[in-house]
Amino acid sequence: MNTNEIVTRFAPSPTGYMHIGNLRTALYSYLIAKHDGGKFILRIEDTDRERLVEGATDVIIKTLEMTGIGYDEGPIVGGEHGPYVQSERKPIYMEYAKKLIDSGHAYYCFCTKERLDKLHESDATGGYDRHCRDLSAEEIEKNLAAGVPFVIRQKMPLEGTTSYTDAVFGEISTDNSELQDQILMKADGYPTYNFAHIVDDYLMGVTHVVRGSEYLTSTPKYVLLYDAFGWERPNYVHLPLLMGKNEDGSVSKLSKRHGAVSFQDLVSFGYLPEAIINYIALLGWCPKNSETEFFTLDELKDAFTISGVSKSPSVFDFDKLLYFNSEYIRKMPFDAFKAAVAPFITVALPENVCVDKVLSLVQGRINTLAEINDKIGFFAALPEYSDELFFNKKNKVTPELAREIMPKALECLTAVCDWKNDALFSALSELSATLGVKSGAVLWCVRIAVSGMSVTPGGATEIMEALGKEESIARIKAALEK
Ligand code: GLU
Repeated sequence: MNTNEIVTRFAPSPTGYMHIGNLRTALYSYLIAKHDGGKFILRIEDTDRERLVEGATDVIIKTLEMTGIGYDEGPIVGGEHGPYVQSERKPIYMEYAKKLIDSGHAYYCFCTKERLDKLHESDATGGYDRHCRDLSAEEIEKNLAAGVPFVIRQKMPLEGTTSYTDAVFGEISTDNSELQDQILMKADGYPTYNFAHIVDDYLMGVTHVVRGSEYLTSTPKYVLLYDAFGWERPNYVHLPLLMGKNEDGSVSKLSKRHGAVSFQDLVSFGYLPEAIINYIALLGWCPKNSETEFFTLDELKDAFTISGVSKSPSVFDFDKLLYFNSEYIRKMPFDAFKAAVAPFITVALPENVCVDKVLSLVQGRINTLAEINDKIGFFAALPEYSDELFFNKKNKVTPELAREIMPKALECLTAVCDWKNDALFSALSELSATLGVKSGAVLWCVRIAVSGMSVTPGGATEIMEALGKEESIARIKAALEK
């Protein structure tokens, strides 16, 4: 193993969907390792048994798979530090907690729930009163022998300060007198997050702990654990808060009330994983010397550095994500677009309509894949429309003029054998010259007749090519009957 290798991890708790903030943490953690050819680990932190949500681990794994954030070690793929699911590592934590008891950095606490509740009632903010911190060895032995339930608490120093340097937020310092004797091992034999992640980060060789800034102020407690074990502290990289815009213009922590904030929801609304990844990479990180904001995951690996991470909160801008998404859709190879949009299509296109032509017409005109049905609905069935739709100021078209143009257009189009955009366009251009009207006028009338809509993806001849001759002629005849 390269001793200077950067090792990072993503350590989600399987408590539900994949929040965009969590995905950003996974991404940054991955990029920090990969920028330097390091290793990225996935670890599932499921020791809070009450908050477990069935299927949540699969959601995490699936999300990483869909976004291309590959992990070198973790569930399924395995690795030399496994298992990677904390509940499967249960015996390890007790062993390490006992080491802390032996070295005087932790202690057994036998306080009953009733006692703790009472304590809380009399002083809601006071926390634990360290009642069991100095029990005698005999008392402890007696309780353990009698099977009295216990937790193990961290013995915090009562004086002095604890500091560490965060790569983004700088020096963070806390008075030790403010630190609670937090629980390391719970009565159910499971470790708390506070303890388990320290042991695992150490055993898994994690060099950089990358996570949300909500952990910034609890980290002094964690570095004390490293010190107690005599382990080298890791580097800390806390990420800026993610905010959402409220209706009144203010901002608050990004949550469901701001819109879709889970990766799964965004995907189901027709956002591409590549676009989501590109957009969230910019939520808290600013590329240096770059003219563009568009990055593939591989380009992000090259460009991403910790020094570009900002500590000011970032505001999630749904409009900007929409813009990124439309650009990604537009630039996709056609086959990839076709495959991506297929699951979203609910309208049934008639057999003789050319699906590829329809889809290539709309590819550059949708912002999300879910917009597809609105855009192609008229190919499936001609919508009801009023003859008012034929009015067009620019080309000086009125329903009366349309009535003159349409029979001629029908005649002209019926004679076209090579039913292709170019041939159709020349035929209609010739017709407009013969009729002595602008070609825009003829094209307008025909487009309204074949689509029944004033705004369409593509012009009259492109739409007709996709619809096929039979359907186009049928629609023009229907217009004539109006
Ligand atoms: N399980 C913690 C969470 O999901 C991980 C925090 C960390 O990365 O240390 O918030």
